[in-house]
Amino acid sequence: MSVRTPTGAVEPTGLVLQPEIPLCQTDLPLDWYQEEFRPYAEEFLALPDRKLETVLGWLEGYVEPARAHFGDSLLLLAHFYMGGEIVKLVEHFGGAVSDSYVLALQARNQPEKTVIVESAVHFMAEAVALLARDDQEVWITNPKAGCTMEMLAKDWMVMPVADQLRERYGDDLLAVSYMNTSGRLKALAGETGGAVCTSSNAHLVVDWARRQGKKILFLPDEHLGRNTAARLGMDLGRVRALPDPQRGAIHLSDFDELDASEMILWGSSCGVHTVFTADMVRWWQEQGWRVIVHPESPLEVVQAADGSGSTNFLWKEVVEAPRGAKLAIGTEGHFVRNARDQGALRGVEIAHLADIPEPGYDSAGCGCATMSRNDPPHLAGMLDLLRKGEAPDINRVLPGDSVDERTMARDRLPADERELLVQDARLAMERMIEIVESSS
Ligand code: SF4
Repeated sequence: MSVRTPTGAVEPTGLVLQPEIPLCQTDLPLDWYQEEFRPYAEEFLALPDRKLETVLGWLEGYVEPARAHFGDSLLLLAHFYMGGEIVKLVEHFGGAVSDSYVLALQARNQPEKTVIVESAVHFMAEAVALLARDDQEVWITNPKAGCTMEMLAKDWMVMPVADQLRERYGDDLLAVSYMNTSGRLKALAGETGGAVCTSSNAHLVVDWARRQGKKILFLPDEHLGRNTAARLGMDLGRVRALPDPQRGAIHLSDFDELDASEMILWGSSCGVHTVFTADMVRWWQEQGWRVIVHPESPLEVVQAADGSGSTNFLWKEVVEAPRGAKLAIGTEGHFVRNARDQGALRGVEIAHLADIPEPGYDSAGCGCATMSRNDPPHLAGMLDLLRKGEAPDINRVLPGDSVDERTMARDRLPADERELLVQDARLAMERMIEIVESSS
């Protein structure tokens, strides 16, 4: 995995290609592909197996011509929760693999890269586009790859509630938007004097927000918000979660509890991280394992664990664990699988927190399923279509784009509104960078 440096540079993950190991990727049905991508999917589905060397050999036929065509202007990006070990493939072809924050900085830090192809979820590609220059194009290999946490915090869900809160609290309301939000919600943070945050700096950003003496609206992850409040020693009785957006539109009527609260949490969550329970943590601890979890997990899981932190924190624990150590990790499955492979090379045992070999515990499965919709045929097709000048516009990502991940319907802002959104969202991201830098 990558380790973030203060400049946002990406270092190689250290992941080793093991050609004989099959990819952890479920084949998608042919009708899940855009029409333009089906020929690539048909070829992929006809491959004899899913071993890395087979997939790599096939991908090379498309990736290498694209690299030769675009030269230094091409940048491949992947998040390390990607399925099918795309992380290894992308890195193999000279691309960068990292977390969403570092990915977002890549266009800004490399102005010579004008064709940027991302294998990750939509909000991550949009964050790259938010910081990109006008001559840098950002493409996502599958626009249907959405983050379920972000999908439950679409602007049309959040804005009516934010408007009611702004009506009641005026300038005293300040939004903190986690990286896992659309540009529209990052712009809301900028507009209300707030900031973006990541899982590694949420405590710094919320601490800063408290010092502004404002009421905080934390978007969109209820669990990261509550874990951050607990870490800062806030009175959890004054941290209120809004109803789960899956239950339908939220209409605020009783403001008494909200008036008394210091922080209001949007009620979204990550389906991957909320499968964990404190019971699972104790099971591994009883077997003598150290347990570390991501703070998108519920509070009781974080409190029971031996440590919690961002993906970079978890990876650091893996690479620094002494020979003979045993680590059970509560986070996304592909990450843990990669960590397990790397740990094995150094005599460190790694297990997925949910993979308990006893009845009553369900396996956690492969990983973030929506992110895995960016599979090898999507990468091959995207690069080949771009090279031929035939890439579908729906795969192009501009700041402010809102995509329905089921239907692929896209709402694109007019240029003037997009410009305003970029200003506000960048302001919120710059505030985060200032807060982090001034803390160190
Ligand atoms: S792991 Fe969870 S938070 Fe991360 S992209 Fe997937 S659904 Fe979103």
